[in-house]
Amino acid sequence: MNMNASPEGEDLEEKKLLGSGGYAFAKLTEQEEIKASLGVPQIFLGNIGRLNEARFTRYYCNNCRKEHTGCPVITYENPNERLGENVTLIEEGEYRCKTCNNLIALYRKFNNT
Ligand SMILES: [Zn+2]
Repeated sequence: MNMNASPEGEDLEEKKLLGSGGYAFAKLTEQEEIKASLGVPQIFLGNIGRLNEARFTRYYCNNCRKEHTGCPVITYENPNERLGENVTLIEEGEYRCKTCNNLIALYRKFNNT
């Protein structure tokens, strides 16, 4: 059995995910990577949204100026706020440094599909 396989059977690959206050390394499926990169070489944590904490291996905090092992602290809420005709903000979340509480990245998830 492949230990790196996701429940969907896809291989996971460790990628660098950029945030405004640092970056993180997490294992992504190819689909997640394609969805988040939007055609540019960099992958932004804000485009990934909320990932399972177990996917993260380490992250770098610009405020601490060092790498931490594990996952940043993820907090989120589900405002279900209607922003337009067919757009509802369903989830808003933050990744913060577990040591100094620095904001690593923000994400917003819409149901505009
Ligand atoms: Zn920090």
